[in-house]
Amino acid sequence: MLYDNLSINDAGHLCIAGIDACELAAEFGTPLYVLDEDRVRMNCRTYIEAMRAYLPEGSRPLYAGKALCFKGIYPIIEQEGMGADVVSGGEAATAIAAGFPADLLYFHGSNKTDAEIAYGVEQGIGCFVVDNLNELEVLSREAQARAVIQRILLRVTVGLDPHTLAAINTGKVDSQFGVPIETGQALEFARQALATPGVEVIGFHSHIGSQIFEPDSFCDQVDRLLAFACSVRDELGFVAQTFNLGGGFGVPYVDSDSRVDIAANIAAIAEHLHAGCERAGYPMPAVLMEPGRSIVANAGVTLYATGGTKTIEGYRSYVMVDGGMTDNPRYALYNSAYTVLNATRAADVADFACTIAGRCCESGDRIAEDVRVARPERGDIIAVLTTGAYNFAMSSNYNRVLRPALVMLHDGKARLAVRRQTIGDLLALEA
Ligand SMILES: *Cc1c(COP(=O)(O)O)cnc(C)c1O
Repeated sequence: MLYDNLSINDAGHLCIAGIDACELAAEFGTPLYVLDEDRVRMNCRTYIEAMRAYLPEGSRPLYAGKALCFKGIYPIIEQEGMGADVVSGGEAATAIAAGFPADLLYFHGSNKTDAEIAYGVEQGIGCFVVDNLNELEVLSREAQARAVIQRILLRVTVGLDPHTLAAINTGKVDSQFGVPIETGQALEFARQALATPGVEVIGFHSHIGSQIFEPDSFCDQVDRLLAFACSVRDELGFVAQTFNLGGGFGVPYVDSDSRVDIAANIAAIAEHLHAGCERAGYPMPAVLMEPGRSIVANAGVTLYATGGTKTIEGYRSYVMVDGGMTDNPRYALYNSAYTVLNATRAADVADFACTIAGRCCESGDRIAEDVRVARPERGDIIAVLTTGAYNFAMSSNYNRVLRPALVMLHDGKARLAVRRQTIGDLLALEA
């Protein structure tokens, strides 16, 4: 088993955090997002403890809400002592509606609207991660109108290719996110921001990508960010209190994927930054990190009911499930691999080679290709592991398929955190 929170009971059913997956499916329906709350907490603690041990005061992890954003996640994040980043007014409003302190929110986004900027300042969002000069102007106006000084980080691109997928690589010079260091524009950005009324620059932000498995890319990022900070100090006399290194630690989806030792990586990055600062005579800044995937991915499992199987002689067999790209578009977007089990027959030999197909009118609607599961009958529950990140958050109503419910598991009990969408919900929007 990929995870130690999974087990098999006497009925031969898969259990998640000790709870029978087939019973969850019977009680709450399928498809169903299942989130193991204790696993989320454990992932938070890994970051909290390592950052506390290796980095200066003021350093902390911020949960990147875009990975999985619903009200129920925020009390957990707050209780564990993390801040959070939000990338839209919708994410900010979700966190605030859940009672998350606005001053622990960091407002991201490459194209924040005027309304979002006004809303964020009004709500007392702790820090804006300013992406560009256009936005800075609006932010300054909104802050001055309310006679507040808005704390900001400047998002820069360090010109680094961490060799992940192009779709999730954000640190290159040619990117729609942030302002590049290499072209000299980031220095100009800093010059203007430092002279802008209504804002206080506390430091710099850079995010290099996602699904990164080694600390090397982060160490390169730290080198480049520090070199930039030094040039800002030398040219403009400004010393950053904070470096925000973004998110991006990878998680394994299948057994053959590598594992990241997050604490060891944080230690390596911290040591690298300490040494660099010492060499440059730069005061060690507080460090922020923005993990999304590595907080929630391995806490999530999606349950589907099997509609049946279809074998195309000479080609392959399909297992048809009652969800697919509408609740998990990651295969369609990135060809992502997943681990799949027949939760109804978890103790049986997984010897049925198949492709798990969704129900949309798209041949790309697949969850996994060439996997092996115990041969399912109609009604068997199929479990797809590691679906906590970028599944619920990326779901759609394509083909007017309804969004699944989300349940959270804690203390041997399941509670409904997001109810299943109804046709009434969909039609309510329409004239
Ligand atoms: C996507 C993103 C994150 C989170 O990335 P993960 O790979 O999920 O950890 C953090 N910060 C920014 C700016 C992002 O765009």
